Amino acid sequence: MNNNRLAQLRAAMKEKELDGLLVTHIPHVRYLSGFSGSAGQLLVTRRAAWFITDFRYQEQAAAELRNGFKAIITKTPYETIAEKKLIQEGMKVGFQDGYMTVAALGALRKKFRKAKFAATGGMVTQTTIVKTPEEVSAIRKAADIAARVYQEILGIVKPGMRENEVAMEISYLGKKFGSEGDAFDIIVASGPRGALPHGRASTKKIKSGELVTLDFGCIHQGFNSDMTRTFAVGKPTPLARKIYDIVLNAEQAGVKAARAGMTGKELDDVCRNIITDAGYGEQFGHSTGHGLGIEVHEQPSVSFRAEKQRMPEGAVVTIEPGIYLPDQLGVRIEDDVLLTATGCTVLTSSPRELIIV
Ligand code: ZN
Ligand code: ZN
Repeated sequence: MNNNRLAQLRAAMKEKELDGLLVTHIPHVRYLSGFSGSAGQLLVTRRAAWFITDFRYQEQAAAELRNGFKAIITKTPYETIAEKKLIQEGMKVGFQDGYMTVAALGALRKKFRKAKFAATGGMVTQTTIVKTPEEVSAIRKAADIAARVYQEILGIVKPGMRENEVAMEISYLGKKFGSEGDAFDIIVASGPRGALPHGRASTKKIKSGELVTLDFGCIHQGFNSDMTRTFAVGKPTPLARKIYDIVLNAEQAGVKAARAGMTGKELDDVCRNIITDAGYGEQFGHSTGHGLGIEVHEQPSVSFRAEKQRMPEGAVVTIEPGIYLPDQLGVRIEDDVLLTATGCTVLTSSPRELIIV
């Protein structure tokens, strides 16, 4: 499996006439080399592959590196690369412009004045879009852990509990059930705070009669899940029920329509049209979804802007429409789906009907 990743990357390098590629984005370092630590970079050439880190990660590198990556342990990466002549005069070397700092690029250019450096944009990201069966299993496992957390959390949330207490429980339960960590900062947004699409858990106390939106994900073997559910604490208002039903209809229509070969915009339209027809188009201000895998947000984008790229079979995307009424409430429902030739497989197993706790 991992050999394919490097072979795919080398094919992309060849196309761009790159002799080497520096990979500095940590999720991509893990994806390609197997190293799961937090510091290190890769130098991939047409024939060789090096992992460069410092002494803190020596043992971990020896245990984790796969696919022919050789470890270089150094305090001064660029000097060591120069000494070992891994980047030489005339070589064209790609760098990850979305992730490398201006300072690092300046230092690199200064050190290797006779090499050429080229921005590679999403070159590595492109290779991560189509998932192998093993990668899908890892995402499914991460989604299963999240579903278990959600089931437990419904029995824990009570009026008077603070949003950040709920977030701590989610984080704790995730790890207890096998998650490697929180996929991202947990969102717990209750009552009027539900109108903030990215309302991180605050010290606000949850009141009876409010909706609560939870958005969180778990991690398995470096692969992420991402789910959102909105539920009611005590009896919801008629408005809350109405908004919930519209969002649920939109979300389910998206799941029904999703399949490989669509553009992100076509799928976005399915959800957006339902919300717009119900009169709340202006209150759905974000994209319908995003690719999911080694990163929580990756390609393909399920967006009104994604008009050209057709989503391939084997991509995993989220479907997460929402409606946000400022100072009142918000509802979002999010599932992870695997795109297939004929439709999609839903990886998120939690119930979708409005639950009242
Ligand atoms: Zn989410
Ligand atoms: Zn998401």
